[in-house]
This record gives sequence, structure tokens and C-alpha cells, in this order.
Amino acid sequence: MTTADLQVLLKRHFGYDQFRPGQEEIISNALAGRNSLVVMPTGGGKSLCYQLPALATGGVTLVISPLIALMKDQVDGLRSNGIAADFLNSTLDNRTAAEVERGAQAGAVRLLYVAPERVSMPGFRRFLGTLDLRMIAIDEAHCISEWGHDFRPDYRTLAELRALFPQTPVMALTATATERVQRDIVEQLRLDDCRRFVSGFDRPNLTYRVEPGAGASDALLDLLEERKGQSAIIYCFSRKDTEELANRLTSAGHPAVAYHAGLDTNTRRLTQERFIDGDVPIVAATIAFGMGIDKPDIRLVVHHALPKSIEAYYQETGRAGRDGLPSECVLFFNEGDRAKQEYFIQSMTGEARAVAERQLQQMVDFCRLSTCRRRYLLQYFGETETREACGNCDTCLAQRQEVDVTVVAQKVMSAVIRTGERFGFAHVGNVLLGKNLKRVRELEHDKLTVFGIVDDYDHDGLRRVADGLVDRGLLSKAEGKYATLSLTREGRVWLRGHDPLTLELRIPEATKRAKPSRTGRGGAVDTVDSALFDRLRALRRRLADEENVPAFVVFGDVTLRGLAAAMPVTTQDMLRVSGVGPAKLERYGEAFLTVIRGHVNSIPPASVDNVLPVRGNVGTPRSTTGHIADDRRLTDTHNRTHQLLQQGLTIAEIATSRGLTHGTVMAHVERIVKAGKTVDLTPLLPARERTERIATALQVTDSDRLAPVKELLGDDYSYDEIRLVRLALQEAKV
Ligand code: ADP
Ligand code: ZN
Repeated sequence: MTTADLQVLLKRHFGYDQFRPGQEEIISNALAGRNSLVVMPTGGGKSLCYQLPALATGGVTLVISPLIALMKDQVDGLRSNGIAADFLNSTLDNRTAAEVERGAQAGAVRLLYVAPERVSMPGFRRFLGTLDLRMIAIDEAHCISEWGHDFRPDYRTLAELRALFPQTPVMALTATATERVQRDIVEQLRLDDCRRFVSGFDRPNLTYRVEPGAGASDALLDLLEERKGQSAIIYCFSRKDTEELANRLTSAGHPAVAYHAGLDTNTRRLTQERFIDGDVPIVAATIAFGMGIDKPDIRLVVHHALPKSIEAYYQETGRAGRDGLPSECVLFFNEGDRAKQEYFIQSMTGEARAVAERQLQQMVDFCRLSTCRRRYLLQYFGETETREACGNCDTCLAQRQEVDVTVVAQKVMSAVIRTGERFGFAHVGNVLLGKNLKRVRELEHDKLTVFGIVDDYDHDGLRRVADGLVDRGLLSKAEGKYATLSLTREGRVWLRGHDPLTLELRIPEATKRAKPSRTGRGGAVDTVDSALFDRLRALRRRLADEENVPAFVVFGDVTLRGLAAAMPVTTQDMLRVSGVGPAKLERYGEAFLTVIRGHVNSIPPASVDNVLPVRGNVGTPRSTTGHIADDRRLTDTHNRTHQLLQQGLTIAEIATSRGLTHGTVMAHVERIVKAGKTVDLTPLLPARERTERIATALQVTDSDRLAPVKELLGDDYSYDEIRLVRLALQEAKV
């Protein structure tokens, strides 16, 4: 398959115009029938790497995914693009599961998602044998390795799957795998002649910041105020903390809910769903939250407690900005947090304890960096070719000032010598500041001449000086927990010579966050008309409610911005916006075009130029501001659905026979009726009594929106039923 062919498939099925780095090669490798290991950071676009081949090869691609909660969203997302996908997991009753299996056997499913535990069931294996299985994709593949951070024993059974289908190519995918974990994945799965595709770990659209923990709540409120209405996760230390924080934030006007492993399954599921759907913007959570979260538009991840390790920090912050738009990661750090973690570590023994201690130390080192944080993270994951400064973390963004530190540097270095070069900065600083502490007295360091000789710097300020001296090579800091300071040879020479010394010190005030800009690095952000954007967002919300799917299944933020920037008024133009493919165009096109046309028509001609897109040529913005024709014509696909309706097929039957989703067929029916064609809806309507109840509810609520009607009727009624009845009523009026 040529590049051009692949591009056509990309636009047709996903609405995208270009591959992301790496995708095309990975896809070609899979299409050539070879095994691959894909290591790509979160948001890099891993899913597409197996989804596109699945569409190109036909047959069934089996997708192993550990998170049951995610499967439905993933499948909904694919279906909204008109892709035949389904899932099998323990949430389905036997009848539904059997239906899904039959569909897969009949060739009506391209992508079948399953949880790993199912793979060890003999019945399931027999079922797999009856499929036209073309590829096996294993998501979160690091779960197979004990060296990874999230080992799952169920993943070990996947090796047996390999043995059963040795000829079927495998694609293993993960966002975090060190070299050792990568080797382990290849070995465990026996991926002979497997090609590895490892793209960097950098997440350029994320800004990393560490702020002092004292007063975290004010700083946190500021942060949330700036990002009002946007999705945020706040990681807390304990269950109790999550609840207290959620209450405090809610009463301060930032609706938040708590999430932790102590809640019952149902509450947890509901909380996740409400967050994913965008009903609650903020979740205060313990680390138990997040594994099940694949929400692309999380704009902020806050650590209100110290993460356990750099891996954990990277993983948790990685949940921000999957859609590539600028997003922020803020860690509030104070020394007390470290003590809390240490308290837990004390109860551990042996190797595990040593590992936990080392990880904590690395995390603390990260917090205390005076150099680029991104560089530290990338080096941690083994990337050696990194820039000195990324320009998008707090240390890179901070303002610095040349400061003459000759006198204070002499004091710091003398104190290091006088205390015997056996202590880390925390203690040396306490001595210099004359802190009356038990430890200082016990060591008799209050008797030293350097005790209390600094009054023009505080502890943090002194630390910055000490760090600066380490950077200059005058002091050396030992690795490990105590980070003992000692003088280097240059340090001793300088101390004897008393030459003037200046350091570039970070100005504390300047560490305050710059206002988040809409045009940050890494995100393709257009200047958008915010009034239009808000209207489009409201429309998205409504459509998502009606279909009972998360908002991003309708359109992601990137696409919504693209629409607001390009303001397409014809279906042709709309199709040119990234993220709009034929399936979504058909399903949602009209609704969005109507809003955009209304908006364009309401702008006085002179001001139209002010809202032109600044980046990318996303279609012809608009031809005139005058009247724009409504595009109500039916296309072939509608006509085919119409024919089948006239032959008396039900919506479900049409969906199956045409390989469309239920929702798409529903949308066809609405369109056909609205276009004035006669359709006998009677056989499609629910039983008489139900139809009557729905009709009454529609009258009572008297709203264009279906959500309130559904609310009135309860879970027993589906949106599709309500739609059909509404349609029948409209038809009756005409
Ligand atoms: P990952 O699984 O690697 O974290 P996803 O597969 O969820 O990432 O993709 C992240 C986002 O990027 C999704 O919103 C996806 O639709 C989008 N995306 C993937 N490939 C492309 C592409 N070629 N062009 C534009 N957007 C893409
Ligand atoms: Zn940086």
C-alpha cells in the first residue's frame, strides 16, 4: 500500500490530514505482516498504529487492553468515525456477548477489544479460532514485565496466545518502557524479528512546574481560577486528603469530587464517567485514579503530594494534554511531604526499601533542580541528546538576576567546612540561620562561629546560593539521600583567594506562573473566535448527551478549535478541518454547520477579517457573509438506508447489513424524514405503551434537547427510542 493510499484511509476513517511522526512506518511494518514494539509517549497517537492497519487488511484485529472502563469509550470513539468496532468484557451479559461474538464471526467487526483475563478462558480461545484473525495489538504492553511499573499477571497468558497463533503479527504498544522493560516484552511475547519503534519521551506541550508547598491552597486556587471550566486532576496523598480538598475546592467555587480506592465500585465508576463526560471538571484523587482515564483534554495535573518515583510522576503528569494542546503540570513540594513518604518507607524491608528510598530521593532531587526539569526527565528515561534548556518548565521560564554572592558564599563554604563536610544543605542552612533545633544543639553546632551569621537570606535563598556553588564546581554534593556537601579543590582555592563571585540566581517573585497563553509551544493553536468556540462547545455537549457518549467522542478540542478558526459553511470546507472525516461529517456536520452559519451571518462584514485563522490553510473560511444555502441533499448512503427501510428492515438490521453503527443509521433516518421522504416509522417504534409515555414526556419537557426527556423517563428508555418517537411526531405534523 502506497503512502498516498494510507493517507486516503487516514482522512476517510479518522479525518486527519497527516500522519504523526512514526505512525506511517509502524503501519507499513504491520501491513507487511511483521511484529512490532511501539514505544511512544502518551498522546503520540499509538492507537492509530493498529487501527488503520485493521481497516486496511480487513478481517479482525484483536486488541488487548487492560482497562475495562476504557473499552467502551474507545469503541464509541471508533464508531463515531463509522468504524466497526466492538468489545467483549465482563460488563456484558451473556446474550450481548454472544451477539458480539457472532458479529465478529460474520466479519462485521474490524477491531475487537478484550481484557487480558479473557484470553486464558478455553471457550474464548475456541472462539478466536473461528475468526479471520489478522493482527493482535497489545496495549499497555509494559504490564507484562515485572520490571515495569504496573505488572499484571494476566498479561503473562498472552505468551500462550502467541503460541496458538504463531503466524499472526503482533503489535505491542506502551508509553513508558525503559530498555530493560522493552527487552522483557520482546522476550516474553517471543516477538521474533520484531522491529522496535521507540520515539522520544518528550511531551513538548506540557509545562512542568514545581512550587513551594507552603500556602499551596492559595496558589492552587489561583491556578484553578485561571483554568476555570477546564479538566484537572489533583493527586493527593491520602483518601482523607482527597475528600477534604474536594470539599474545600467546591465551596470555593471550583466543583470537585474525590476519588480513591476506598469508594465502592459504583461510585468510582460514576465519578470516572462524570469526569470523562465533562460534568465535573476537577477530581481530587489518590493515584488509584488515572489508569482508567483516557481523556484527551485534561489541561492541568496537580501534585498535591510527592509522587513515589519519577516514573510515577511522568505517568501521572502524562495524562495532561493528550490532544497536544498546551497543558500544565504543577507539583507542590515541601519537605514535610518527604517525611510522610519516609514514614511509609520505614515499614518496608530489604531490596524493596532500598528501591523506594532511591526513588524518593530522585523525586526530591527533581523538585530541587535549578536546571531544566524536562532535561532531567528525558535523561532519566535514557535520552542523552537533550537540550540544556527547554524553555517550557519553571526553571527555564524563571527570570534570573546576576547577584554578587561573595560574602554569603564565603559563609556557606565556611559552614560546610566547620560542620565537618558531613551534612547536607538542610542542616548547614539551619546552622547558618542560627536555628535553635535539637539536632543542632546535640551536635553542638550552636557553638560554632558560623552559627547564626546569615540574616539577609532565608533557607530557600541560601539553598539557591548553595546550588549555584555546586553548579559552579566550588561545592560538591554527594549522591544519595543525605546529599552531603563538601568543598572541591576549586572551592578551597577560591575561599583562600576571596575573588568577587557572582551567580545567576532565580528571582523568587518571578517564579509565579505566567498566564497560560493560548499559543504555547507545541500546540497547533489558532486564533479562534471565543464566542463561536463556546457555541460549538455547547453544541458538542448537547450531542454527546443525546448519544450518551463523552464529549470528545463527538469532536476533540483540537477539531473544535479548527472549526472555530476555519468557520466552514459548506460540507466541503468542513471536511478540510483536521479531525472531520466522512462519518462524522454525515453525523454531526449539519448541526455544526448550522451553528457556524448562524454565527457567520451575525458578524458585521467589516469585522470578519479579524477572526481569520492565523495558522494553516483550513479551507475557504467563507464565501460571503450573505445567505448561505442549506445543504439538505440526500446522498447515496441515505438512499440505500431508505431502500432498506422500505423493505421493512429494522435499524439494527440495517446497521449490521451495512456495517454501520446504530447511531449512524439513526442519523440517516432523521435526515431522510427531514428531507421530506415518506418513511413508515410505525414498525420501528417501541411498544405502544412506551411510545405513549415518550410522547407525553416530549410534550411535558417541550425542549429541543433530548437529555431532559431522557431524565424524565429514566434509564429504562434509550435515546434512540426517544428520537424515533420525536421523529414520528414531527412527521405526523407535516
Ligand atoms: P496514545 O495512545 O499514544 O496516548 P492516542 O492514540 O490516544 O495516543 O492519540 C492521541 C490523540 O491524537 C487522539 O486524540 C488522536 O485522535 C490524535 N491523533 C492520532 N493520530 C493523529 C494524526 N495523525 N493527526 C491528528 N491527530 C491524531
Ligand atoms: Zn526546561
